[in-house]
Amino acid sequence: DTTLDAPALTLSRMAHPAPTSAEARAAVLANPGFGTHFTDHMVVIEWTEGRGWHDGVIGPRGPIALDPAASVLHYAQEIFEGLKAYTHPDGSIALFRPEANAARFNASAARLAMPALPEETFVEAVKQLVLADRDWIPAQDGASLYLRPFMIATEAFLGVRAAKSYKFIVIASPAGNYFKSGAPAVSIWVSEYTRAAPGGTGAAKCGGNYAASLVPTAEAFQRGHDQVLFLDAAEHKWVEELGGMNLFFALDDGSLITPPLSGTILPGITRDSLLTMAREEGLNVREERYSIDQWRADAASGRLLECFACGTAAVVTPVGRVAQGDSDFTIGSGGPGQLTARLKDRLVSIQRGSAPDPHGWVVKI
Ligand code: PMP
Repeated sequence: DTTLDAPALTLSRMAHPAPTSAEARAAVLANPGFGTHFTDHMVVIEWTEGRGWHDGVIGPRGPIALDPAASVLHYAQEIFEGLKAYTHPDGSIALFRPEANAARFNASAARLAMPALPEETFVEAVKQLVLADRDWIPAQDGASLYLRPFMIATEAFLGVRAAKSYKFIVIASPAGNYFKSGAPAVSIWVSEYTRAAPGGTGAAKCGGNYAASLVPTAEAFQRGHDQVLFLDAAEHKWVEELGGMNLFFALDDGSLITPPLSGTILPGITRDSLLTMAREEGLNVREERYSIDQWRADAASGRLLECFACGTAAVVTPVGRVAQGDSDFTIGSGGPGQLTARLKDRLVSIQRGSAPDPHGWVVKI
């Protein structure tokens, strides 16, 4: 087998004995959905105390063996990332800001007492997986190959302390539209539950945050909404973020507001990219607290023109309706607004290679 040279670590290649047939793959790619189908390969890199990162392999995707005492199974020492690979009009393949995901991964690692992974290794592992599974990138509009790098604590030890061994793994999944409804605007449910508290892990992309959001999310679905919204833990007043997306508010005076990175929300890479683009458009961009009461009042008075959610999976999605307890309110006409559509189009055009990339966000593979 050949060996691939990564700047920081060498991945050895294990041949796949039985990759998916072209027919079965075509059936998946025709209707990928989100997160249910997986490619043929995965990357696994081991970390052991005293040795660091070693034994990187790109090979067939399959189950991993874990000791039942592995710390991740008991104390949830786990972090992950999410990014996408796109096919560009010239046939090349590109990632969007993968170094930003690598940096956030290490920030999450630091919070969860896990080892840092060299950013070049993170990016190289993702690139090699995309190359191995390049036939799995769906071609249709809006579709992409979703990449899921993650790290788990593998040491068999039941004491509560940071583990001494870890696995870094990357898997990939062809992705279509994130929202099943395919609705032009989503409806959100304001949860009574809290996602993250000051001093907690809200800014880290760790599995535990998402486990805690499952009941609130199920509640939102049961009530007929697409996503859950969390307010701050202390006052239950300030808008934080959705279960898997950041939020923006466009007011009639040309200002665009998004909650600040206070340590309790995820620093979204889409959020950061949109902030940059909105500043370039001359909007009065402000990272400041916005309360649920202000939101309701601004929606009623018409001061709030548009509201949208953003993230890698959902890209930019207008929020049409907000429900809290027994009451609800509609934003604008309840459908997509002009600014939302324009920012989404600008972002997607850069990601998909149909517009110039002035910030160097696109990384060709
Ligand atoms: N908030 C949460 C809780 C998320 O899970 C995500 C998705 N990673 C986001 C925001 C958006 O982040 P990004 O734009 O980097 O995908």
